Amino acid sequence: MPSPRLASPALADYHTHTPLCHHAEGWPVDYARQAVARGLAELGLADHSPMPAALEPFDNWRMALADLPRYFEAVEQARAAFPQLPIRLGLEVDYIAGQEAWIEELAGMADWDYLIGSVHYIAPGWDVDNPAHLSRFQTQPVEEIWRLYFDAYERCIRSRLFDFVGHPDLPKKFGHWPGGDLRRFYEPVIAALAETGTAFEINTAGLRKPVGECYPSFQFVQLAREAGVPLLINSDAHAPEEVGAGFETAIPLAREAGYTEVLRWEKRNRTVAAL
Ligand code: ZN
Ligand code: FE
Ligand code: FE
Ligand code: ZN
Repeated sequence: MPSPRLASPALADYHTHTPLCHHAEGWPVDYARQAVARGLAELGLADHSPMPAALEPFDNWRMALADLPRYFEAVEQARAAFPQLPIRLGLEVDYIAGQEAWIEELAGMADWDYLIGSVHYIAPGWDVDNPAHLSRFQTQPVEEIWRLYFDAYERCIRSRLFDFVGHPDLPKKFGHWPGGDLRRFYEPVIAALAETGTAFEINTAGLRKPVGECYPSFQFVQLAREAGVPLLINSDAHAPEEVGAGFETAIPLAREAGYTEVLRWEKRNRTVAAL
């Protein structure tokens, strides 16, 4: 597949992974090559955060604490190979209530450009996006699963530990939707974003999953725009060819909701770029 250049050259892709998390392929240098081919303005790496050594083995889909130096090295290699492309150092941090002190420790381990707050765990041992736990959607009401997730997500935002939050409505991944008006889930989270000055991402990975649409849904994006919450657009690439994937869908969605700008990050300071 050729790599079409994107219509909006102002865009960055800040949510990408590396083989250090054991379920992604391609190194930052490969992602950078694709970012240049697609005409992206910036690339950011944000691999799955390490857990404290005392909690290991925690799961099989994150980097080990001991691999952090390899992560920094891989990002440096990409910077050296593509000096014309700004390459940011980020981390997709799992927000788990009670781990705030650990997350603060992680925040001090590097000169991060940004930290993404993500919720995957909605209960101990239950990462809601893991197909290994898919049967739980048969035994527990979808309403409760979404409630667990959105309550954790609000707490994640209110921790004020993160620059922006990842994939806002992840529990729809496999196509499970609660009934009725979903604003009961979205509104408390959007209020938390607005009150804490936290941004969120449109994450195009949902387009490549059974749900077949971006995270979050259009209604969420609209409500967030009305509340003045800033936005990023990211691919959540787990392979180099996914860098910038789905942006041709996400950009019109953001514009339709009224967004004209996206955020960029450097050393945890935000700047604004035209969308
Ligand atoms: Zn992942
Ligand atoms: Fe994630
Ligand atoms: Fe991710
Ligand atoms: Zn993610």
